[in-house]
Amino acid sequence: MKHFGLNIWGDDNFIIQNDTININYASKPSLLKITQEIREKGYKGPLLLRFPHLIEKQISTLFLTFEKAKKEFNYKGDFQAVFPLKVNQFPNFIDSLMDVSKSYHYGLEAGSKAELIIAMSKTPLGAPITVNGFKDKEMISLCFIAAKMGHNITVTIEGLGELETIIQVNSEFNEGLSNPISPKIGVRIRLHSSGIGVWAKSGGYSSKFGLTSTELLEAYEMLNRYNLLDKLWMIHFHIGSQMSDIAPLKKALREAGNIYAELKNRGAYALEAINIGGGLAVEYSQHEGKQERNYSLQEFANDVVYLMQEISKSKDVAEPDIFTESGRYIAASHSVMVAPVLELFSQEYHEKGLRLKRVNPPLIEELNDLYTSLSRKHAREYLHDALDHMESLLTLFDLGYIDLEDRSNTEILVNLIIKKSIYLLREEGSSELKKLQDRIQEKYLVNFSAFQSLPDFWGLSQQFPVMPLHKLETTPTNPASIWDITCDSDGEIGFNREFPLYLHDIDVSKEEYFLAFFLTGAYQEVLGMKHNLFTHPTEAIITFNNDGYSVDKLIEAQNLMDVLDDLDYDTNVIDKTLKYRIEESTHISKEEKRELLGKLYLFLSENSYLKTIQASNEEQS
Ligand SMILES: *Cc1c(COP(=O)(O)O)cnc(C)c1O
Repeated sequence: MKHFGLNIWGDDNFIIQNDTININYASKPSLLKITQEIREKGYKGPLLLRFPHLIEKQISTLFLTFEKAKKEFNYKGDFQAVFPLKVNQFPNFIDSLMDVSKSYHYGLEAGSKAELIIAMSKTPLGAPITVNGFKDKEMISLCFIAAKMGHNITVTIEGLGELETIIQVNSEFNEGLSNPISPKIGVRIRLHSSGIGVWAKSGGYSSKFGLTSTELLEAYEMLNRYNLLDKLWMIHFHIGSQMSDIAPLKKALREAGNIYAELKNRGAYALEAINIGGGLAVEYSQHEGKQERNYSLQEFANDVVYLMQEISKSKDVAEPDIFTESGRYIAASHSVMVAPVLELFSQEYHEKGLRLKRVNPPLIEELNDLYTSLSRKHAREYLHDALDHMESLLTLFDLGYIDLEDRSNTEILVNLIIKKSIYLLREEGSSELKKLQDRIQEKYLVNFSAFQSLPDFWGLSQQFPVMPLHKLETTPTNPASIWDITCDSDGEIGFNREFPLYLHDIDVSKEEYFLAFFLTGAYQEVLGMKHNLFTHPTEAIITFNNDGYSVDKLIEAQNLMDVLDDLDYDTNVIDKTLKYRIEESTHISKEEKRELLGKLYLFLSENSYLKTIQASNEEQS
């Protein structure tokens, strides 16, 4: 685990050079260097680093892979794609996305009015916009406004009620005009087949979305009746996120393809596109044998193109344009969340904590001998002896024969022996050793909030790759649990024998140690919650040029007053109250009051994350 599974999840985006993890691009700077540079400007606490070159890589890979599949099968339809805004709506991400995708005719997908406003203002005219999810009359009217601006917009109907509203809004916007303009119409179909995995609820008969076959026929007739068949151009489905297996997609494609062909043959002459939604999975696994995805992007693209071609051939219709709305695949890899370790919590088990006396109880003397003479050859035997002695010593303590110092020495020595034996016997991987790891795990207190920055770990037990930024030439030996700084016991990534994480033994009062969490670019930011009022971390965009890299668009985590303002506290009143209470205090001098006010206002201007908890090292974290 020295490389933290980088070969599984890394996709060649990062490279380990000497003892640091570096960006595998341009001048290949280390994440440590970038982190330190930003911290030197005074930004402490967790940092979210965005890498637009990784967004560009995902978009170009998606388009090139589908182009290749089209060429191989000589497929006639176009390939087009949109980014679903719900995956990440943050401006530093969306602006980078629009910037790097200019040559791809890449658009945006919106699922709410606010997202639609982003799509209407950020999508270049002509690039596709798709609108999914439940809509009211106002949202449908916004789609008409977008169409009249010149946008290439498709509104997907999720139910017959929406279609009625579209017909009504259409007459309000277009009646009597010589040049009526309205959005294109898509229909979301309710699939018989459904996805798999924790996010699978989007497909299948019990899904929240889509029209049944009966409703589809009715929709077709309604469109025909109101002369809107020329607008019906897309069939849409989405089988759920993080699709681990390709099989359900193939089933869904057959279903959707046949619906497309049936409707087209029935008379839906403008029908030209099939939108396969999102769902392309990201490999989050750090561990061999625990991979989350059983297909490659090329296999995915080939299946889509091949199946659409087969169905079109057999039903004698034109090959449809293929649309995708994959979001996780595009966004996940673009950001890295870096957080400083504030403290290690089993310092009491260090050798320096021993309080050996001139004369110790014989069993403790023996433990000490075992520890000092422990070697690979005898490790297992000594380990068993140590565990046995510990039982005896704890009984002796309960019976009053040894004192608290002896008990403390017992705990330290036994833990040191376990730790050393596990290290010496690491090649064996026996279940006994694995169980013992839980006992000696080290707790790393890390300056971040899991609720804010890894909500899917909290809510869905989704694993994210994590590794330190440096010391990568040294094999880490501490089985590690990660504690965040919220006051909630769920804010812990516990040591898990299924997905063991080992970190280095360090003294944070002497040196900095940072953890990086990878693949956090999809869903985590906007789903993140302000539990304990820890906010979105400080973020920056890292771009590359001939001289190296530059750090741009730095946005600091919100300060304390802004956080309270967001909750609709009257911060003027809070400000005045605090000031009044200091000024009116009868316990303190005028001089002291001025000093306290100065400090107070400095703290109010800073964010909630911790500065340091090590008294010895003011400047850290
Ligand atoms: C959520 C969603 C997507 C994106 O799914 P990913 O798994 O992130 O690719 C695409 N289309 C629709 C309709 C969605 O609801």
